[in-house]
Formats: sequence, C-alpha cells, structure tokens
Amino acid sequence: MRFRDFFKGKTRPVISFEIYPPKTKRGLHALKSRLLPKLIELGPSYITVTYGAGGSTQGETLEIASTVKNELGLEAACHLTCVGASKSEIDDIIGRIRTEGINNIVALRGDPPTGQDQFVAHEEGFNHANELVEHIRATEDSNSRVGLAVAGYPEKHLEAESLDVDIENLKRKVDADADIVITQLFYDNDAFYDYRDKVAAAGIDIPIVPGLMPIQSRSQVQRIASLCGATLPKNLLGQIEDAGDDDEAVKVIGTEQCTAQSQGLIRNGAPGIHYYVLNRSPQIRRIVRAL
Ligand code: FAD
Repeated sequence: MRFRDFFKGKTRPVISFEIYPPKTKRGLHALKSRLLPKLIELGPSYITVTYGAGGSTQGETLEIASTVKNELGLEAACHLTCVGASKSEIDDIIGRIRTEGINNIVALRGDPPTGQDQFVAHEEGFNHANELVEHIRATEDSNSRVGLAVAGYPEKHLEAESLDVDIENLKRKVDADADIVITQLFYDNDAFYDYRDKVAAAGIDIPIVPGLMPIQSRSQVQRIASLCGATLPKNLLGQIEDAGDDDEAVKVIGTEQCTAQSQGLIRNGAPGIHYYVLNRSPQIRRIVRAL
C-alpha cells in the first residue's frame, strides 16, 4: 500500500511510527529482534525509517525498512534527503528502495551538515524538497509509483521568514504530487489546528498527519525547543521543571501529556498520528493502548 491508500475511506485513525537506524551493530540487532516486534504488536499502519545526515545511514535505513516490509510483513517507508547527493546518486538510492519492495518514501531536503549554517545543494542535486518530489514523479510510471510524504511545520520551519511563506513552499511540494504531509513535532494542539486551517485556505487538501514525540527528560525538552522551535505550553513546562532531573517522573508527565494530546487531535479530526518513537517502546505502548 502507498501512503494515500491508508487514509482513503479510513474508519480508524492511521497510527504510524518513526524510528532511526542505531549507530552500532548491537543496537541494530536489538532494534530488529526486540523493538520492532513490540511496535508491530501495537498495530501501526506503517513504520518509517529516518535517513542520517548526508546519507550517513543510507544502508541501514534501507536494511531496517526491508526487515519491516519483507520479514515482518508491515508497510515501511524510507526517509530520503537531498543533502550532499547528486540526482544520479538519488536515483540509485530510489532504485534500491524499489528493488526491496518498499512502496513509500518520506521526501526531504534535509538539514545542513554539522558545522554549516546554510543548506548548500549538491551542484547536480536539489535545492528543496519540492524538486525531489518533482524528480521522483517524473522518473516513475504507474507501475513504479511510490507513496510520497513531505514535511510540514505547524510552528514554521526555522529558516522560513513567515508561516505564510512556509505554507506557500509546502504547496509546491503538494503540487508536485506528494500524498500526505507529516508534521514536525509540537506540544500545543492549537498550533496544529491553526496550521491545518491555513493550509486548507492555501488550497492544500491532502492528509495533514500530526507528528508527536512524547517527552522523556528535561534535557530532551531543552534540546528540542532549540532544534525545531516547538513551543512548550507554560503549564507543561512548569510540571517538567518541578520534576527536575527525575527522568522517571518526567516520563510519566510526558506519557500523560502525549496521550491527552493524541486524544484531543483524534477527537478534532486528525486523520492519524505519526509518533517519533526515538527507538524506545514503553511510553508509546502506554499512549497507543490508552488511545
Ligand atoms: P523544504 O521543504 O525544502 O523546506 C526547507 C526550507 O526552505 C523551508 O524554510 C521552506 O519554507 C523553504 N522552501 C521550500 N521550498 C522552497 C522553494 N522552492 N523555494 C524557496 N524556499 C523554499 N532530516 C533528516 O536529515 N533525515 C530525516 O530522516 C528526516 N526526517 C524528517 C521527518 C519529518 C516528518 C520532518 C518534519 C522532518 C524530518 N527531517 C529529517 C528534518 C528536515 O530534513 C529538516 O527540517 C530540513 O531543514 C527541511 O526539510 P524539508 O523537506 O522540510 O525542506
């Protein structure tokens, strides 16, 4: 199935998980033998696998997605970025993704590599994700057509001069024939509802799937806020400050918050939820079971 198929005529919210390739062989083994079966038990529609900076996890991204699809029998998606890659290198990766029978790609520009302030495209590559989407669509036929997800930012992409401009740029990706939008994480549902209204007003009518990441520790919260600009509601921030370095207490707060956030989104018409799992299952199990 392609992304679009999961959302057509759905009777239940579409739940999906995002994982990343571990750095070590031992981590990879643990992911395949323990994490993936636990996640699959929760009944997600598909699992997506991130792509490391500059393609650093290319092989592992594909290997994990292939395990999900070909050994565990669940649809998988490979993330793919334009960082440091020429068109022909990207074609080569897409060819390998298709050969593994993976039908879905999360098409991204990617962040500048560490030490660089600005994204600089490969001289024979792509400047923005809409160009990657256009390229993929131009090089496929109805038999090889993949499902394409693109990224959306309820609180604006950090580089964008305004949310309106960012939504104009989102529209380029949608007009290039993306199937769904998966959003950056956020903690305030009102940000998502406002975004959804603005996106609809811009003429975008494909599913906008909220991306959520349960809070695991105080340091994680600080990191996230500076990396992607997600705003934390004051009362949530207060609870986390009160829990201090007690990570177990913060996890309980994070689980309750993410459960309530998920329930609110579903009640208010979100087509599904994409969870940033961070390769740990206990919180996600509690949240999805409560849902
Ligand atoms: P773009 O859509 O190209 O947007 C980047 C910036 O350029 C925005 O400010 C936008 O407004 C502007 N822009 C877009 N198009 C144009 C245009 N045609 N002309 C002028 N300006 C334009 N990163 C990874 O490295 N690996 C991953 O696996 C990964 N997975 C992700 C999954 C999700 C769901 C999300 C939300 C993000 C993910 N990222 C990942 C992070 C992502 O790569 C960064 O946020 C990156 O900075 C932007 O990628 P993009 O695809 O949104 O880029």
